[in-house]
Amino acid sequence: MSDNDTIFGKIIRREIPATIVYEDDEILGFNDVSPQAPAHVLFIPKNTVIPTLDDAEPGDAALLGRLMLAAAEYARRQGFHQNGYRVVMNCREDAGQTVFHLHLHLLAGAPLGHFGAIGR
Ligand code: AMP
Repeated sequence: MSDNDTIFGKIIRREIPATIVYEDDEILGFNDVSPQAPAHVLFIPKNTVIPTLDDAEPGDAALLGRLMLAAAEYARRQGFHQNGYRVVMNCREDAGQTVFHLHLHLLAGAPLGHFGAIGR
């Protein structure tokens, strides 16, 4: 267990339950416990903890790309590619980041409205 272990580390190690919907060698996808759309899946790196996007380095470029492709593959599998979907990565306080293990949100399954609200 590393210093920057989070609740997502516990999910990776199967120490707490999650509904896992996607897994490959590097990435785990599981349902968000507090869904903001009919489908809300979080995609996380399994083998490394990058706390925020701001901590990512050039050597993480492939991993960041794989997170996006995992979300797209899952969306295609579920048929969400037909009407579309949204992917979001929150970075630190102003974006409302709460778990400091970098993750990509996939939101799908209904019209999501216009993006870009300011305020809390
Ligand atoms: P963020 O606000 O971008 O850091 O996203 C963190 C997300 O993790 C939130 O949408 C939470 O609902 C979600 N979350 C927190 N704990 C769990 C958990 N145990 N299982 C699944 N999702 C979780």
